Amino acid sequence: MQLILLGLPGVGKGTQAKILAKDLGLLHISTGDMFRDAAERETFLGLSAQQYMSKGQLVPDEVTIRMLLERITETDAEKGVMLDGFPRTIPQAKALDETLNSQNSLIDAVLYIQVPENELFARLTGRWTCSECGEIYHTQTNPPQKEILCDKCDGELVQRADDQPDTVRGRLNANREWTEQLVHYYEDLSKLHSIDGTGEPKEITARLMSVIEMVSVA
Ligand code: AMP
Repeated sequence: MQLILLGLPGVGKGTQAKILAKDLGLLHISTGDMFRDAAERETFLGLSAQQYMSKGQLVPDEVTIRMLLERITETDAEKGVMLDGFPRTIPQAKALDETLNSQNSLIDAVLYIQVPENELFARLTGRWTCSECGEIYHTQTNPPQKEILCDKCDGELVQRADDQPDTVRGRLNANREWTEQLVHYYEDLSKLHSIDGTGEPKEITARLMSVIEMVSVA
């Protein structure tokens, strides 16, 4: 199977992609993870991608497409892939279709996880990080015992630039535009399946699984 997980930042794509890929025996490919890994290793690709990532911008298509196509043509991708964070643009989606076609394969389903934007905003702005030890808290899911101090080391909790309300709003706006274009693209190909992304992660996994089962028997 070749599956794509689509959705705005904070809908839980990464978490669900890992669980589903493991359960279904698919290769999980996250272009965000690939770029972060390359940036940590300070490769040429990583350092150039870092300039875009740090501003919340998309890495240019030619770089992203080349990296992804190289990855999905490796032998461990023959068992099928679960794509997370790719495609993000129409040229990326078209390049993926062409490559899969040339391998006599195709996308089986695009799983579009949806969460109301006010909830996404709360999820994305609720993260606080300890300035001393780096421990991460979340006002909704993992609050510290004392409001502004780390439970482990009493360090001051700070909000990273990425998690600040203005930055989050900007990220959501930009991603909404890209996501809507892809939603139309895959709707036209009758590949799109919308999934309610609210509730416990287990419930969301179950909803995704039932769509995948339906697609695989069709
Ligand atoms: P993510 O972890 O998926 O949110 O990705 C982190 C960052 O990596 C994004 O903000 C982009 O800068 C870059 N990135 C990841 N995937 C793509 C993609 N398909 N196209 C362009 N840039 C990407």
